[in-house]
Amino acid sequence: MRNFFVRRIIGIVILIVLIGTSIYIFNYLENKKKIDLLDQLEVNKIYFQSHEIIGYSVENRKIEVYTFGQGEKNLLFVGGIHGGYEWNSVLLAYKFIDYLRIHPSLVPENIKLTIIPSANPDGLYQITGREGFFKTEDVKESQTFGLGRFNANDVDLNRNFDCKWQPRSTWKSNPVSAGTSAFSEPESLAIKNYVLENNPIAVIFWHSQSNAVYASECENGILPKTLEIMNVYSKASGYKAVDSFDAYEVTGDAEGWLASINIPAITVELKTHETIEWDKNLKGVNALLDYYR
Ligand SMILES: [Zn+2]
Repeated sequence: MRNFFVRRIIGIVILIVLIGTSIYIFNYLENKKKIDLLDQLEVNKIYFQSHEIIGYSVENRKIEVYTFGQGEKNLLFVGGIHGGYEWNSVLLAYKFIDYLRIHPSLVPENIKLTIIPSANPDGLYQITGREGFFKTEDVKESQTFGLGRFNANDVDLNRNFDCKWQPRSTWKSNPVSAGTSAFSEPESLAIKNYVLENNPIAVIFWHSQSNAVYASECENGILPKTLEIMNVYSKASGYKAVDSFDAYEVTGDAEGWLASINIPAITVELKTHETIEWDKNLKGVNALLDYYR
């Protein structure tokens, strides 16, 4: 009989302790949530962030730009101009967007860091079946090399810019359509308009899979600043620096057009079509931020 009462009392005490602990943990988490939210508001006041649509693809998918900071120097990064099979360049861009949301203080006061994560959303859609953010799991396995490289008009967007533009261009040994005129495609036009309106100090394009950093040029050779930032990114990231892309003749590339209007531009080619090589690229981006600081 006594044992029964003792056990009952112990049971009740354990129950009270459990309920008390639960209430305490619940209150703690709720308070933490409130504090986190306040911190976030505080951070947003100091570290400006925005997100806007700069155009639409042939199939009416959004082309977006994410902005971090309000400095006078706009440093622009572009992923995914070759869409589908270069999906990792888009994933890398989204990873930077996530990272900068959590670490906004990475962007120095004099810089406005902008990212266009997906410059060819129709091409990307062929591989991910998604618009906007996606995960590696969304990527459909494809045996077709180069799937989703072109936009929905079958144009290679990185041949549709106004530097030595010709209607037919090349990709490796293949002829590709470069559109009906320079900037005939809404995707390249969106980038052109954004660049002309925002006058970036430099533009970095992420591609895959040549495992190198390339300079750019049009009619008048490589801009000295282009060589400098190519070397800055290369040294920090470990990707080898290559002055001139001469594997095959390229016309109408975006970087060349930027060179023609005196904006330094480099191409960072990831090593594979599947990896984002985060540590290397974080070092590269940090080195550029330091360079322009
Ligand atoms: Zn590419």
